Amino acid sequence: MSCSAGERDLHEDRIRLAAQMILDSFQVVALTGAGISVESGIPDFRSPGGLWSRYDPLLYGTYESFIHHPERFWEMARELNPLLEGAEPNPAHYALAELEKLGKCRAVITQNIDHLHQRAGSTEVLELHGTHRTGHCMSCGRVFTLEEMKELSAGGERVAYCPQAQALIKPDVVFFGEPLDSRVLARAAELASTSDLMLVIGCSLEVYPAAALPEYTKRRGGRLIFFNTVSTCHDQLADLVCLGRAGENLPAVVEAYKKLAGIR
Ligand code: NAD
Repeated sequence: MSCSAGERDLHEDRIRLAAQMILDSFQVVALTGAGISVESGIPDFRSPGGLWSRYDPLLYGTYESFIHHPERFWEMARELNPLLEGAEPNPAHYALAELEKLGKCRAVITQNIDHLHQRAGSTEVLELHGTHRTGHCMSCGRVFTLEEMKELSAGGERVAYCPQAQALIKPDVVFFGEPLDSRVLARAAELASTSDLMLVIGCSLEVYPAAALPEYTKRRGGRLIFFNTVSTCHDQLADLVCLGRAGENLPAVVEAYKKLAGIR
């Protein structure tokens, strides 16, 4: 991205301001969406050319569609699973893990199912939309690993059924129309309500109930910083918007924070 000297100065001011807001805060929490993993090679769903432009979410992403047409899910998984498995954490994931080590990120609340925050070293990770790494039998409840699901679905070529109960195996990802794990959601709401700063990274804030969490922080007098490549229609909620790639801006903010805090 080419920009003028004025724009660059403004951008650097925003990075410094974000670092100052972290320094001034007592309880910082992060909320991450698909955008944080785009630089790891996993496309988001909503951006132009994203998965939802090829797979209609109503046909491929709802609980109803999974029950009635599970083959559609496995067709999509055939494309998505190799990307999820081949992905490595990027500098944005590592920056959040470093903030946690510095005592400046109490938890990462993520909408992602890719496990990249944990792999980067974050230890307090709340997976609002579940994980792609396990599944369970919808009849007997037996848990299956990703390897087992891959084998039973022949790499996504057919629907995976439980060998014992002969019932559908449902991956532990949350489909549209399916409730979120109530304990995970309650903990996320508690963290959002008791933090005085939330870093909202790579989120379109179009998917509820995750999209409501920044409002919990705001209502209690907390502040919000949005990190996104584009402006969103929710930007008026934010105290600061840092436009650009998360993999560049997050590490820059953490470096600026360390400088301000006198950490080498
Ligand atoms: P989303 O609603 O969180 O939107 C992604 C946002 O990230 C967009 O606003 C986009 O402008 C922004 N973005 C893109 N690249 C970025 C970058 N490099 N830096 C900063 N921001 C960037 O996500 P979605 O695509 O609508 O997906 C919906 C749901 O599907 C997610 O909440 C998640 O549950 C699931 N999903 C998960 C993954 C994953 O695990 N990596 C990937 C795609 C979708």
